[in-house]
Amino acid sequence: MDELDLLPWQEAAWTGLRERLRDDRLPHALLVAGPPGVGKGRLARRLAAAQLCESPRDGEPCGACPACRWVARDEHPDLYSCEPETGKAAIRVDAVRELVDFLALSAHRGAVKLAHIEPAEAMNVNAANSLLKTLEEPPPGARLILVSHRPGRLPATIRSRCQRLDLPLPPRREAVLWLEKQGVAEEAAALLELAGGAPLQALAWGDEVVRERQRETWQDLLALAEGRGEVMAVAERWSAGEPVQRLLWWRRWLLQLRRLQAGVQVLEPEGLARLAPLPPEAVHAFDRRLERLQVHLEGPVNIALQLADIFNRWVRFTRPLWQARG
Ligand SMILES: [Zn+2]
Repeated sequence: MDELDLLPWQEAAWTGLRERLRDDRLPHALLVAGPPGVGKGRLARRLAAAQLCESPRDGEPCGACPACRWVARDEHPDLYSCEPETGKAAIRVDAVRELVDFLALSAHRGAVKLAHIEPAEAMNVNAANSLLKTLEEPPPGARLILVSHRPGRLPATIRSRCQRLDLPLPPRREAVLWLEKQGVAEEAAALLELAGGAPLQALAWGDEVVRERQRETWQDLLALAEGRGEVMAVAERWSAGEPVQRLLWWRRWLLQLRRLQAGVQVLEPEGLARLAPLPPEAVHAFDRRLERLQVHLEGPVNIALQLADIFNRWVRFTRPLWQARG
């Protein structure tokens, strides 16, 4: 899969963009919105390539010229990508100010300069404010692509200055076919289900390393639920590696559990049925707690302590299960 390839469920959205590009009707600021894992960032990158490509054909990036290769590697001098720093959740105001300065300079190679902000909702209030003027009156040739998993979290002042393009989840069948083509053979449907229908997320989960972490995460939860786990040790381990991702998996498994409780046949994760006697309403309430924690973990908190707290609650919540088996 090449970085600039079009994903099959993006055909309609892409055709619209390409036509607008061809007719010079592209907005200065585009907000690409939709759930994580549907390829919004890829589409944004493809749109950037289409505008920077040195031999485009009918609005399509050639994929082979230096400009296209640079865009694919995020090295094009006229493309500025803005994302949270490694290990951080927020896009800082300094990064956005740099972006604004970048757009104000003239382009290196062509007439267009592009900024790509992802996820746009990671901009803190100051960062968002420092972008407003550029959104309102972009310098000549400047174009902005904002990518957002949660557009509702963007300030209305930002949203109202962008044209919005929604990329919803693709039809399930189309996503499964695509996953199979990527080599995720037998587990394609199951992974897609775990990923809530988001194909790129499913593909990422297909990755072996990720699967190993996922297995370990589930075993941790099961051990804690069965009175075997060491709360602090597990909290330390999780906080050192993708704690938010692990919470997402946890939430996904609780959703699976509720489906199981509702009589749906659920195959994964192994051992899930042991949790089936938990009251469904309480499982739902616990999931809401995880959801709040997930948001909370994006802030400046001691992650290990927050995790230890939720694990203690999990132990208390599931204690009746193992005491009953006791
Ligand atoms: Zn090209």
